[in-house]
Amino acid sequence: MDEYDVLVVGGGIAGSIAAKVAAKHGLKTLLIEKDKTPRDKPCSGIQFSYFDKLIGEKIPREALCSNDLSKVEMTTPSGKVMRSKMRMFSFWRSTFDSWLNSLAVNAGVEFRDQVLLAGIDEDGQSITAKCAGQNSEFEVKTRYLVAADGLSSWIRKQLRPDDFYAKATSGAINFYFKGETNMDPNTLYMFYQREFSNLMFAWAYLKDDQWVIGSGADPEPLEYAERFFNYIEERFSLRGEVVRTENFDSQVKGVVFPGAGNILMTGDAAGLVDMYRGVGMDNAALSGRLAVKAILKSEETGHPACEAYGRLLEGMTRKIDRNEAKQRAIFATNESLAESLSPSRQLRNGILMLGAMQLNRVLPPERVITLPL
Ligand SMILES: Cc1cc2nc3c(=O)[nH]c(=O)nc-3n(C[C@H](O)[C@H](O)[C@H](O)COP(=O)(O)OP(=O)(O)OC[C@H]3O[C@@H](n4cnc5c(N)ncnc54)[C@H](O)[C@@H]3O)c2cc1C
Repeated sequence: MDEYDVLVVGGGIAGSIAAKVAAKHGLKTLLIEKDKTPRDKPCSGIQFSYFDKLIGEKIPREALCSNDLSKVEMTTPSGKVMRSKMRMFSFWRSTFDSWLNSLAVNAGVEFRDQVLLAGIDEDGQSITAKCAGQNSEFEVKTRYLVAADGLSSWIRKQLRPDDFYAKATSGAINFYFKGETNMDPNTLYMFYQREFSNLMFAWAYLKDDQWVIGSGADPEPLEYAERFFNYIEERFSLRGEVVRTENFDSQVKGVVFPGAGNILMTGDAAGLVDMYRGVGMDNAALSGRLAVKAILKSEETGHPACEAYGRLLEGMTRKIDRNEAKQRAIFATNESLAESLSPSRQLRNGILMLGAMQLNRVLPPERVITLPL
């Protein structure tokens, strides 16, 4: 049976970064991904300017969409429009994650796609993982397991089955539209209007040659998304067709779970996505790094890696809880939503954000200040 220091399950953001950093620290690392790569993943694929720091490399042009997103346009409940400049990364997850997989391989990681983790057995000393490849089943032994298997994490379901609802009620839907419109290709349009999303903003923006028009809601996400699409169609004179519809829902309860013993949960599997603002790739990358930091600490002290990891995740966990409470209160009424977008609040948020972005230039990756603040 092949033996590794670290087995990373899931070749998305958290898994690729954890694997890359582990290998860079000399740990013998296997990264498995159940899908054939490049694989697609429902995601808007938008991130803030500090994201390359969390990745640890300059993101090459080829990994990004051909059109830059450099402006934001926010529409308030009363229909008032506010514009600002903001540089963002925009990419397709298939292309981007494939590039991340290659970074891991270049760092010395053994990467195998089309391999599903199907069983785990812990004996206190090591973990035996049962893997199912395309044509064969095999087992590997590992000292640490990094669970980066996303929001429907099979590993979390084994460790904490009660963290999942029987049925999802909330969801997000993206319509991919090809054709003519008078929207600006470099603007991320955000609609803070409760008839279009009762959880967060509804969005529209260009990705290469496809306009992404979508929203999230709880319950009845399709109803909200269709109403929003019809509005955008009329307001921005859409002429063309929807070429694809992407649905996404989740049954996981919004609780952060760092893992147990030497099994470390990262990214969405750990519950580190900010569901109320649809942002999770930065926390995924950061948690991948912190998981390796905890593993290195465990090597030093002999204590289970999760002890240190739980402490390292505390700040991120507090922030997620705070944002959830804040966002629920903001979306409770049109008045509270409008108040959150008032010019004085926007000015304050803008100043805080600029300060954080400046600080991020000098902070090490593991201390990056993530948005929302
Ligand atoms: C509609 C939507 C829009 C979003 N937009 C944004 C956005 O604009 N910006 C942002 O920051 N975040 C966004 N997010 C959130 C973001 O997609 C996630 O937070 C991020 O992908 C988490 O990364 P991850 O590595 O934890 O998990 P994932 O990216 O989901 O990767 C998990 C990987 O594990 C693999 N896997 C699963 N089970 C197994 C198994 N048993 N064996 C082997 N492999 C397995 C999967 O195939 C997958 O490749 C969005 C989410 C949704 C749903």
